[in-house]
Amino acid sequence: MSHPKIGFGEDIHRLIEGRKLILGTVEIPHSLGLLGHSDADVVLHALSDALLSAIGEPDIGFFFPDNDASIEGIDSKKILSFAVRKVKEAGYKVGNASISILAERPKLRPYIDKMKEGIAKILEVSPSDVGIAAGTNEGLDAVGEEKAIKATAITLLLPLID
Ligand code: MG
Repeated sequence: MSHPKIGFGEDIHRLIEGRKLILGTVEIPHSLGLLGHSDADVVLHALSDALLSAIGEPDIGFFFPDNDASIEGIDSKKILSFAVRKVKEAGYKVGNASISILAERPKLRPYIDKMKEGIAKILEVSPSDVGIAAGTNEGLDAVGEEKAIKATAITLLLPLID
């Protein structure tokens, strides 16, 4: 008999000048963006790792190595779609996902609904099954000094057939 599975993921990316800021599928106007081999959507990376972890698969760095020139600049929506496909192949579907983003700036509240919609579409769930909390790091450490943005995610997977 199959049973529900929980997964956890986290990620952090450096903030630099001259890069786009893409968080949770949404491009956000800002003076800084996240550095990475992909589009550096730290939210989708944490969520993809949570999905893969729940089914006992290796993390996204294993499937999408940062020394693979063929995937330079890859849209992280493709990475998340890959993780969802793996979940289905394992006999599961996403129940819900809970995400936390820590960013000192910009204020993310205006973009949360759009992120929920974009993520829900890929996870094939309702936007109400995607929760996103966004906070600052109170000026502390790399995130607080606006040198990085961090995301963590937990997901619950449900068996396709029980
Ligand atoms: Mg990453």
